[in-house]
Amino acid sequence: MEGQSATVQRSEADLLSYAKSTPLNPWGTYLHQIDMVKPHLGDLNRWVGTMQRPKRALIVDIPIEMDNGEIRHFEGYRVQHSLSRGPGKGGLRFHPDVSLEEVMALAAWMTIKNAAVNLPFGGAKGGIRVDPSTLSQRELEKVTRRYTSEIGLIIGPQQDIPAPDVGTNPQVMAWVMDTYSQNVGATVTGVVTGKPVHLGGSLGRTRATGLGVFAIGRVMAAANGLALDGARIALQGFGNVGGVAADRFVKAGCRVVAVQDHTGTLHNAGGIDIASLQEHVDRSGGIAGFAGADDLTLEQFWDVPSDILIPAALEGQITADRARRLSTRIVLEAANGPTVPEADEILFDRGIAVAPDVICNAGGVIVSYFEWVQDFSSFFWSEQEIYVRLEQVLIQAFDAIRELAVINGLTLRTATYLLSCRRVLTARKERGLYP
Ligand code: GLU
Repeated sequence: MEGQSATVQRSEADLLSYAKSTPLNPWGTYLHQIDMVKPHLGDLNRWVGTMQRPKRALIVDIPIEMDNGEIRHFEGYRVQHSLSRGPGKGGLRFHPDVSLEEVMALAAWMTIKNAAVNLPFGGAKGGIRVDPSTLSQRELEKVTRRYTSEIGLIIGPQQDIPAPDVGTNPQVMAWVMDTYSQNVGATVTGVVTGKPVHLGGSLGRTRATGLGVFAIGRVMAAANGLALDGARIALQGFGNVGGVAADRFVKAGCRVVAVQDHTGTLHNAGGIDIASLQEHVDRSGGIAGFAGADDLTLEQFWDVPSDILIPAALEGQITADRARRLSTRIVLEAANGPTVPEADEILFDRGIAVAPDVICNAGGVIVSYFEWVQDFSSFFWSEQEIYVRLEQVLIQAFDAIRELAVINGLTLRTATYLLSCRRVLTARKERGLYP
């Protein structure tokens, strides 16, 4: 019957076949990262299997009547990787390449990220396989609302709280909040974060991820003897995260020498004017055609000498070949999963410092947590308060990770996984198995 839930749950055999996938895809990358931490987990290894599969994965059909009268079906997902430390938490991605396997990895990285910064959340992620730029505003609203209704079975302010990710924004979150609220018969602002500010959103949420990347970048630069004043930045991705981070680095005296997005690659050794580039992107939707820089090919981006490389787009961008060619000192992983495992080893051997995604881009979910707390208390904080607390939570967590890395001779990534896996698996063990 139309209007009834058209959800499908994948069989365990399907999930296990995903679990065996190759290291070059996101879920394979995640499993490899868990393998790296296993030798350090001691007795907690008894429970490590819970990290290696999602707790719950929902696939939904989203049938929509398009503006031209045609009926189209989109596939959507919501994966709850772990709920051991609290409700699921993680973004919603609208992108043509979204797949169950990608969402599984993104959900698992949220488990690690939320535990790394000690938020009382598990890890989850959702997505729809759709190119939002091809939809009208009305079609986008329909897709969002039907998807929300379908995953309404498993989301809620105490169950699982979505947020923005690639291809979604505060307007999409407003539709999620409204649809969920209509279905339960009360306005429930805390079901989603990253909402518009006048609908229970938090001040500072939009800039939070980019500001967090900058805060981690400052600590990484100091630890590696790099002065930010005059440092060269190469940036992949000029969306909400990359744009805000670039602005902060430029204000600290850096030069952005290369920028790449889905429309093109720009290079200017003297520094690209980021404010003008932002205006250009706001006008035209991408960096292509910007007058203040030369064009490069996609692959040439990876050869531009820089001091800090910021991948702020999608997974799997730093491949082994690119890791060998890179001429940089610090990689700040603003995207989720930008470095494949083989490249990670090459960067380590080459002495290039890597701030892993699960801490580097945690600023967004930290302010999402603040938003969730504010929604529950219906008491809202000032922007200043948000930024001070954001930096406190993020830098304290990063200091603990750096200490763990030094004491145990680990990379920052493995140290982050160690801290997080200890927290998640201890919670798992203390809660015990039911029945
Ligand atoms: N999508 C963001 C991330 O990958 C934010 C998630 C959230 O705020 O829940 O961390």
